[in-house]
Amino acid sequence: MPDSHRDNNQRKGAPRLPGETCCGCGACSATCPTGSIEMLPDSLGFLRPSVKADRCVSCGRCESVCPSLHPRAEKDTVLGAFWAKGVDGEELAASSSGGIFGLIARKVLTEGGAVYGAVWTEGWRVEHARIDNASELHHLRKSKYVQSSVGPDVYASVRCDLAAGRQVLYSGTGCQIAALRSYLEGSACDNLLCAEIICHGVPSPKLWQLYVGWLEQRRGERLSGFSFREKEPEWERYSVRADFSDGSSWQVPYMDCWYMAAFMSDLPLRPSCHVCPFKRRSGSDVVLGDFWGIGGLDLGIGIREGVSAVVANTEKGLFAVQGLEDCRRGEVEYGEILAGNRSLELPAPVPERKPAFLKELEEASDLSPFISRWDFVPSRRAVWRGRIKKIKTVASECGTARTVAVFVKIAGKAVVLMAKGADKETLQKMAQVAVEELREKKRGGDS
Ligand SMILES: Cc1cc2nc3c(=O)[nH]c(=O)nc-3n(C[C@H](O)[C@H](O)[C@H](O)COP(=O)(O)OP(=O)(O)OC[C@H]3O[C@@H](n4cnc5c(N)ncnc54)[C@H](O)[C@@H]3O)c2cc1C
Ligand code: SF4
Ligand code: SF4
Ligand code: SF4
Repeated sequence: MPDSHRDNNQRKGAPRLPGETCCGCGACSATCPTGSIEMLPDSLGFLRPSVKADRCVSCGRCESVCPSLHPRAEKDTVLGAFWAKGVDGEELAASSSGGIFGLIARKVLTEGGAVYGAVWTEGWRVEHARIDNASELHHLRKSKYVQSSVGPDVYASVRCDLAAGRQVLYSGTGCQIAALRSYLEGSACDNLLCAEIICHGVPSPKLWQLYVGWLEQRRGERLSGFSFREKEPEWERYSVRADFSDGSSWQVPYMDCWYMAAFMSDLPLRPSCHVCPFKRRSGSDVVLGDFWGIGGLDLGIGIREGVSAVVANTEKGLFAVQGLEDCRRGEVEYGEILAGNRSLELPAPVPERKPAFLKELEEASDLSPFISRWDFVPSRRAVWRGRIKKIKTVASECGTARTVAVFVKIAGKAVVLMAKGADKETLQKMAQVAVEELREKKRGGDS
């Protein structure tokens, strides 16, 4: 945090807002009646509140609204858990997972409502914005792995839409949902549907800006489009794509993209994400994510185009999911979603090398030397060696020699799940299914 901002927050009578645990939601700024709080980037690009002490009237509203100071005590209830995917191939291709956000949004828009979500803006920044027309939906679609900023105008606009009796779909990370709920405390929210996206954490906006500069410098062209989630060759093995002003493009498997590999390492995540108090406590109606590990459940559905994991927390959320047309879905156990997606409940652990990484990032002005020092993209040989080692370890922990043999047989599938973070239980289940299949085959051969 720049010193001038820190000084401001420490003046006598100034509010006591959180330091490291601030999630950057901007609710304090939106709530301040005297416009005394500006959200400014710290040395890693994360937005933090800066209080103009001369304007502050010490009313304390910013402290009361802050979701990090007052996390919700109540845990979100699971009313239903589902796998779901849209049936329209084009819409599926245009979304990150099973396209369920787009389906809910389209319904709200068709009924005259407004939808809020994260969009790219000038200079490859990400902000929350409002749309009220389905032709604008593509701006909100797809995960942008950069923290989205939510300005005071967005909070005010949601309040205005609700006051006008309009239906509102608000999508965002758990902290953004908790912040909105806190901001709207006391307002009528019957028409509000909050869709939380499962959140692994948000990486440093400074890192992203440096990465954009690095890409453009290497190519000698301006970036004209960027997608973190291209379902090429398939959803589970997605790729990252950059388009340039001369019409050329660059597409690589996600782990061959330095920025994505850095994101997955947890090193550049916002410090508050490591102690996130919003997991299963955001106050959302429905949670949407990738159904990682669904292949192991053997549900007999096609998964190459993407499948969403959906958790309904409220009757409103359940109704929204069950009322969806143009989609296939089925009930699952909540634990089956959690097995492949620990981010649903657990914050990312703090990597040992994080302080060193952040210190260097604070000082970095050019990514090239930084990339060579922090090489996240191992050689393919090293990747395979690591995967095989992992398989052997899990297999030996899991049991029989036959299980090991089966693991080797289904290694192709297993490594994909492992790379996606599938845990031991999911892999064990896969192995059991495969063992049963082998037994079945043997019985068939014996008779
Ligand atoms: C930073 C980040 C981390 C994530 N981590 C996980 C994870 O660990 N596990 C998991 O299963 N899923 C995670 N997701 C969610 C997942 O990638 C999909 O966004 C989700 O499954 C919805 O997909 P969809 O096909 O239904 O909709 P899509 O059409 O892909 O819709 C994207 C939705 O995400 C919102 N969104 C996009 N970028 C941002 C952003 N930067 N900040 C806030 N909202 C944003 C949009 O507003 C929209 O609601 C993460 C998403 C983000 C942005
Ligand atoms: S205490 Fe009141 S006036 Fe001062 S910054 Fe907070 S909300 Fe604004
Ligand atoms: S309201 Fe949000 S941005 Fe403001 S201090 Fe709290 S967590 Fe940080
Ligand atoms: S991990 Fe938690 S604090 Fe970090 S962006 Fe996600 S919901 Fe917000």
